[in-house]
Order: sequence, then structure tokens, then C-alpha cells
Amino acid sequence: MQSYIVFGLVLLVVVVGAVLALVSPRFGKPPTLPPAPPTEREAPEQPAEQAPTAEAPTTVLERPEAPPVVEPPVVEAPPRVEIEAPEPTAGRLVRLRARLSRSQNVFGKGLLALLSRDKLDDDTWDEIEETLIGADVGVQATTDIVAKLRERARIHGTATATELRGMLSDELVAALEPAMDRSLAASPRNGRPAVLLIVGVNGSGKTTTCGKIARVLVADGHTVVLGAADTFRAAAAEQLTTWAGRVGADVVRGPEGADPASVAFDAVKRGIDAGVDTVVIDTAGRLQNKVGLMDELGKVKRVVEKHGPVDETLLILDATTGQNGLEQARVFTEVVDVTGVVLTKLDGTAKGGIVIAVQRKLGIPVKLVGLGEGPDDLAPFDARQFVDALVGADA
Ligand code: GDP
Repeated sequence: MQSYIVFGLVLLVVVVGAVLALVSPRFGKPPTLPPAPPTEREAPEQPAEQAPTAEAPTTVLERPEAPPVVEPPVVEAPPRVEIEAPEPTAGRLVRLRARLSRSQNVFGKGLLALLSRDKLDDDTWDEIEETLIGADVGVQATTDIVAKLRERARIHGTATATELRGMLSDELVAALEPAMDRSLAASPRNGRPAVLLIVGVNGSGKTTTCGKIARVLVADGHTVVLGAADTFRAAAAEQLTTWAGRVGADVVRGPEGADPASVAFDAVKRGIDAGVDTVVIDTAGRLQNKVGLMDELGKVKRVVEKHGPVDETLLILDATTGQNGLEQARVFTEVVDVTGVVLTKLDGTAKGGIVIAVQRKLGIPVKLVGLGEGPDDLAPFDARQFVDALVGADA
């Protein structure tokens, strides 16, 4: 019996020991949770330290790419379509002859026929005068030209039609004041880009001419920023963006109806920051009245000049509007200090004489002429080349 009790006690001790051994890995020490957390804490810490080291190149490269989402507020890089190389500007004026003669050049068809007559009597001289006036040369300039031509013909006595044509050409060139400075002040000065302000009545070809001027400048090796300060016409900014994209220039534009002066200011700022040669600013040409125009354009000019003086103010004039256009032009010259005229749509008129009238009435040189809707249909003006195109041998 005693041995049964002893056996039972031994069995009890063995069972209790076994149970304790199962519950705790270390016999005699109760299982505790604290050892687990250190394992859990360390586990995430290790990969976290290792990841940046192991993946550093990827992370570092990816991060800087994220910020471009935050774009500068006013500068818009135009859609990068295929960038074109504008054609050189020299020699562009030559195509005027073809464009003018296509629209029945009054000079070629009318004047030369008159000068070929056997006898240059008073009636013929009157007709010559009428033809020049009809070609938009203007009354004053015509009177001068005919008086001088008549005097030379009289002194010569027996001039041939070819000689008379030569004399006419000389007088027309003289009337165009070939000594006038027609260069564009488009190069940077004092480390600041040149600023060109483009003004004119809506529809005169302002925006188109801004784009063409950008091409002329790029063709001549300049870098350009365009400012879309005609914020009243939504299409104007779109148009300008397209032009800019074609020559790889930046365009600065604001939302529709934005303050034109602030867009112009930002454009010049962008030009300075980017270190370009020239900033060309398109403006609105709402000719409601002189005071309104003065408020609008005057403000644009004043605000732009916070950066420094405007280098050129170019007035865009539609050659087909003739004498009416001249009256509108005069208002602009009273509002801003116009330094040059761009005569557009010369291809659409048979009256090339408007160039003489414009210079004479405004006393401002014609610097560029528009010869069509093509991107490179803008030519630097040259008096002799122009007259040769007007009264050339095959005109
Ligand atoms: P804006 O309102 O003054 O900005 O005028 P746009 O630049 O929009 O031009 C008005 C129209 O004149 C457009 O259809 C142009 O293509 C056209 N245009 C501009 N310059 C010339 C040119 O030299 N010749 C011809 N034929 N059309 C021109």
C-alpha cells in the first residue's frame, strides 16, 4: 500500500513537472510578453533603415520629378510641335513684285504706259498725277514727285520711256526717304532683353505680325519670348501660342480678361529671367476712343517700363485700309511713342503708294511689310528694293 502511495506521489510530481515544462519553455520562469515586443519593434526598424540605403538611387531620382506638377503661374511653354527653321530675311521683299502684279499693280500697268507715250503733254502729266494719287501716294507727295519728274524730263529733253522709268524710280525712292533708320532695336541692352510693343487696330494683323516678327528674329539668331497681352480676344493668345511653338519660343499669357499690363509685365520678367534677346508683346487694339486707348496702352507701357524702357513700339497698319487707316494710325501715334510702322497686307492692294503716304504723314519709318499670310511673308523694308518691285522691268 505504501509503495502505491509513493508511486502515486512520484507520478504526480512527474505530471506536474511535465505540465509546467509544456506551459513555459524555461522551466520555472513564467512566460512573459515583454520579450515579444522588442522583436516586433526591431523587425520594422531594420527594413526601414535598410530600404533607404538599398533603394536610395531610385527614391532620390524619383522625388525631384514629382514637383513639376507645380507650374509657374504665368509662363506657358507652348506645345512643342516640330520646330521650324524660318527662312532668311534677306531677299524676302523680292516676292513683292509677284504679289503686287498679281493684283494689277497700278504702277506697272498705269504709270509705265503713260511714261511710254510719244509726247508727255500736260494731260499726260495730269494722268500721271491722278495715277499716283489713286495708288495711295497721297496728294502732297504726288505733287512733289510729279514736279521733280517733270523738271528732269524737261531738262533731259528727249528721254526714252526706260529713262523716264529710271527717273520715276529715283523720285519714288527719294520720297521714301531711304536714309531713315529702319533697323529694329531688338538686341539686348545692359543685360536686359529688348522689348518690342506691338500696337494697332484689331484686324490689322497684329497677332499674326507678332508671330512673324518672332520668326524674323529667330531667323536672325535671336531668342524670343512672346507676351499675349491682348487678353480681350481669347483667340489671340491661342494664335500666339501656336506661333511661339513653331519657333520654339516661350509665350506668357494670362487668363481671358486678365489685366493686359500685368501679362506684359510678366512677359518681360520671364524674358529677363530666361536671359532671352527679345520680348515681343502683343496688345489689344480696341479703338473705342482716344482716352480709352490711352488708358489701356499707356498703362501697359508704364507697367512694362518698371523693368526698363521699351525699345520699339511698332504700329501695325493694314495697307488695304488706305487713308482711313492713316487716320486711325494717327491716334496711336498720339497715345504712344511709335518708333516704326509695319504695313501689312501689301499683297492685298494694288496701291503700294501707301508706304510713301504713311511715312510722310506720320514721319515714322516703315520698318517691315507684310506680303501674305504665310509664316515668312514679312520682309524688312528697303526703299530701293520696294520701288524696284513696284516699277520693275517686268512689273
Ligand atoms: P489682329 O486682330 O490685329 O491681331 O489681326 P490678326 O493677326 O488676327 O490678323 C487678321 C487677319 O489678317 C488674319 O486672317 C491674318 O492672316 C491676316 N493677315 C495678317 N497679315 C497679313 C498679310 O500681310 N497679308 C495678308 N494677305 N493677310 C494678312
